[in-house]
Amino acid sequence: MSRSLVFKHIRSLQKASVGRGFISVRQNHHAGAPLGHFTDEETMMRDTVRKLAQEKIAPLVKKMDEEEKLDPSILPMYFENGLMGIEIPPDYGGTGASFFSSILVVEELSKVDPAVSLVCDIQNTLVNSLIMQLGTEEQKKKYLPRLAQDTVGVFCLSEPWSGSDAFAMKTVAKKDGDDFIIDGSKVWISTADQAGIFLVMANADPSAGYRGITTFIVEAGTPGLSIGRKENKLGIRASSTCQVIFDGVRVPKSNILGEFGKGYRYAAGMLNEGRIGIGAQMVGLAQGCFDATIPYTLERKQFKQPIYDFQGMQHQIADVATQIEAARLLVYNAARLREAGEPFVKQASMAKLFSSQVATLTTSKCVEWMGGVGFTRDLPQEKFYRDCKIGCIYEGTSNIQLNTIAKLLKQEFS
Ligand SMILES: Cc1cc2nc3c(=O)[nH]c(=O)nc-3n(C[C@H](O)[C@H](O)[C@H](O)COP(=O)(O)OP(=O)(O)OC[C@H]3O[C@@H](n4cnc5c(N)ncnc54)[C@H](O)[C@@H]3O)c2cc1C
Repeated sequence: MSRSLVFKHIRSLQKASVGRGFISVRQNHHAGAPLGHFTDEETMMRDTVRKLAQEKIAPLVKKMDEEEKLDPSILPMYFENGLMGIEIPPDYGGTGASFFSSILVVEELSKVDPAVSLVCDIQNTLVNSLIMQLGTEEQKKKYLPRLAQDTVGVFCLSEPWSGSDAFAMKTVAKKDGDDFIIDGSKVWISTADQAGIFLVMANADPSAGYRGITTFIVEAGTPGLSIGRKENKLGIRASSTCQVIFDGVRVPKSNILGEFGKGYRYAAGMLNEGRIGIGAQMVGLAQGCFDATIPYTLERKQFKQPIYDFQGMQHQIADVATQIEAARLLVYNAARLREAGEPFVKQASMAKLFSSQVATLTTSKCVEWMGGVGFTRDLPQEKFYRDCKIGCIYEGTSNIQLNTIAKLLKQEFS
């Protein structure tokens, strides 16, 4: 598949930086630099994706929301531009950029449509990461090029009776010779109906409790794997959310990702990273809604003056702008900590918790600032208002983030 824009730019930057004596463009961000300073690679990714989002996605947002599906042009456009394998090394067909670049990409896409950004976020911050970190060389060679170039991967953890208490899952994987047979069902799986690769958490030794949970790579088309009901949702409607059924799904033991019985640890670890991505989605969403609203407040006149000029409006607008900036810095800091290999779990939870609160505040205020037209479906504010609610729910609800933060604080003070 021919690659364009992002992919080609990255290659030329990587070559240029070698010529300038840098080992890698990733090292171009200096410790101690303001969080809003990016490497050349990150700036290029952000600017290119911003342009792509405006030109290729913005005209389709309303239709996708109404029809509850991604436009057929979206996924090929992501793959073509290297956006589905951002961190995957070039040797495996990926873009070879940084984790922080993924965060900027998710933020930029979410400014235009948080529903359309989700598939890119999950692919990069959960699925690709898990395979890159845990896969055998054989698994990496088999799956990473596909994930980078033409295949959607999904993360299958939640079940009807195990949501926040994810490790109470009932899906089992029973050993049968050199194979495992998976039985059970998953719910709420984002983009499952378009997936080619499923990362599935199943208990392969229920007698060991959560220590039996193991991660399996299951390919679409495996007999017994089927997609069930598609949810009819409040927001992010263009992103499908489906039940996935496993009815005697046979997979070879070579499809275990990482170690047997360590799935609980991998899932929890990955979700810590994933939360930074959801933070970026919420920051982008808030900024997109804010940017769509402020020009109206400058133009709309009441009592013979722009509504922006009332101090009652200005103080609210300044407050929301400050909250968005604070949320963005929490997200960027968590991402930089993760890249630096430093502890980031508390910061990732804080970033997700706070950015979803800020997205809720921002979109609610923007609807109000628009007056009556903000309450119609003709303008984007009401969609952002509906889309933001998911930030408090998936990849750990806000209460679960608070639990994590409180647990880590207790450790610090004990
Ligand atoms: C649109 C969408 C997409 C999703 N995508 C995926 C996906 O791709 N893959 C996947 O595996 N899952 C996915 N999920 C599932 C999602 O992660 C779960 O919905 C979420 O973890 C919450 O679980 P639950 O819905 O069972 O709520 P519950 O766990 O039942 O929570 C209900 C309420 O109880 C509270 N609560 C629960 N336990 C505690 C506690 N210990 N302390 C305080 N309060 C608590 C919660 O905060 C919440 O307010 C998705 C969900 C949605 C809605």
